[in-house]
Amino acid sequence: MDFFDYKNGRLFAENVDVEKIAEAVGTPVYIYSKATFLDHYNKIKQAYAQLDTLVCYSIKACANIHILKLLADAGSGFDIVSGGELFRARQVGADTAKIVYAGVGKTDHEIIEALEAPIGYFNIESEAELENLIELSRKLGKNPKAALRVNPDVDPRTHTYTATGKKETKFGVDIERARQVFNQYGRNGAVQLSGIHIHLGSAGKSVQPYAEALQKTMELIDCLRADGFTIETLDMGGGYGADYETSTAPSAADYARVIVPLLKDKGLKLILEPGASIAANAAILLTRVLYLKQGGKKKFVIVDAGMNDLIRPPLYDAFHFIWPAKVDASLVPPKKIRYLNMEGTQQVDVVGPICETSDFFAKDRPLPSVSRGDLISIFTAGAYGYTMSSNYNARPLLPEVFVDGDNFTVIRRRQTYEDLIAQEKK
Ligand SMILES: *Cc1c(COP(=O)(O)O)cnc(C)c1O
Repeated sequence: MDFFDYKNGRLFAENVDVEKIAEAVGTPVYIYSKATFLDHYNKIKQAYAQLDTLVCYSIKACANIHILKLLADAGSGFDIVSGGELFRARQVGADTAKIVYAGVGKTDHEIIEALEAPIGYFNIESEAELENLIELSRKLGKNPKAALRVNPDVDPRTHTYTATGKKETKFGVDIERARQVFNQYGRNGAVQLSGIHIHLGSAGKSVQPYAEALQKTMELIDCLRADGFTIETLDMGGGYGADYETSTAPSAADYARVIVPLLKDKGLKLILEPGASIAANAAILLTRVLYLKQGGKKKFVIVDAGMNDLIRPPLYDAFHFIWPAKVDASLVPPKKIRYLNMEGTQQVDVVGPICETSDFFAKDRPLPSVSRGDLISIFTAGAYGYTMSSNYNARPLLPEVFVDGDNFTVIRRRQTYEDLIAQEKK
């Protein structure tokens, strides 16, 4: 569910014609929908209302402080993976007690800032990190809470680069080793090791891996409790499906139907770390057609956005629905799906201007015919879109525009050429 829809053949973000935004700020441009962010967040809250649940939005999915403020005001906590993300959260007055911190390579500096905040939970990825946290906590006289990240060793059935909960990843510790870690460090007196954290990977399309992981994790928690440890919190991480194609991912309610019964009356506080399932279809990347080109049998649509602006297609082989922002009534897409078989479309590759063959957004994709200057929307660009963008090819970072009903606001201006060299020395 999102708020990017066609009215009379013109694409609207909520009540704003996206062409108006392109005229005001130029292209390419990221356009966010406030209603979509809130809708996703609220649906997750509702789905888990029967449990003591804290939703910690995963900042790395989409990190603009305007969006963090929106979610903090709605009651969200945050999942962070760096000191920079802690800084972002603090800029919007986030309640630091609702912050959980994961990451395999936390520096001393980052840990100390998080101890001083103080944050809600450190999600521990290794014995060495835990030893360091214990030492730093003693030094600073702090008594933080920590959750041990375990690998339940289930296959989230996603792209290998986004699978993080299998055994052969750098994240967390194997579930068999978790008891040992608790026995060795669980009574250290400085760090309260009182939670278990799992995170299976991103954008799964099935609920099943969560059910499997949860069963294994609950067995572990029972063992740990039998060993005398207090386990207060289960952090289930993120990775819940997002609708990259209309109605193809499980909804928050679908996940909750499986997860909630397994956790009822277990005396656990539940933390969720959704990123993509909140942010993904809360944005489009609006781009303009620069040129059309025929190469062999292929038709290329060359647009002004590039892989430096949205790297997911080459990086993860990710699907983004792409469609012109203005079409005949007969060519309004009934759904945003991969195999739209519509009269009046032709197969094209949509590519950017970057000097890399991997600079593409779609290959062999049906698209209504477009001309130079037409606006094209790349949908579901809200998660790992802007946050992964770079200045490659000396391209200024894009503006971010935030739509709220009839109004839109630039929440990050387009970088200038001067910005590109501002930190450099001749
Ligand atoms: C990236 C990440 C998330 C968010 O994942 P999504 O797929 O965006 O929901 C949550 N938790 C941790 C630890 C992460 O690294």
